[in-house]
Formats: sequence, C-alpha cells, structure tokens
Amino acid sequence: MPLACSRCGHTAEPPPPKRVVFTTPGARDRVLSSICAECFEQWEGIEIRAINEYHLNLVDPEDRRQLESAALDYLFGAEDDQSAG
Ligand SMILES: [Zn+2]
Repeated sequence: MPLACSRCGHTAEPPPPKRVVFTTPGARDRVLSSICAECFEQWEGIEIRAINEYHLNLVDPEDRRQLESAALDYLFGAEDDQSAG
C-alpha cells in the first residue's frame, strides 16, 4: 500500500520488508510506515559505501548500531532526536 514518504514527500510504495533490517526497537516499523522504496534504495547505496569505508562488521552490535544510527539520520533527518538512547 502506498505511503506518503516523510523524506521526499512523494506518495509511493514502501521498501520490501525483508530488505529493511534494524535491531533498534521501532526503527523498522518506522521506516516501513514512512519511507518510500526509492529513498530506502538511496540509503542502501550509501550504506554499502559506509560499510566499506569504515570497515564495519555487521555481526558486531556496536558497528551495527552505528550504521543504524546513520541510516535513521539519513532517512529522517538528524534533527529528529526522539529515539535518543
Ligand atoms: Zn521517499
């Protein structure tokens, strides 16, 4: 079902749920309910570069959290600080 993307403002389909993987509570639901597939794909391109550049190990919870934090900043804007902690 199409949603109104909070990032680009377009009405579009959400990303495929199986591609949205977050361990941060609520983050996955938030992405699936307010980010379109196109914006999420843009993030995926950046994510791959970030993983390579910073040599992130996604099995490492600390690296994983760092990447998820960057994802949320990118998708929702850094000024949204509701999920601090
Ligand atoms: Zn969008």
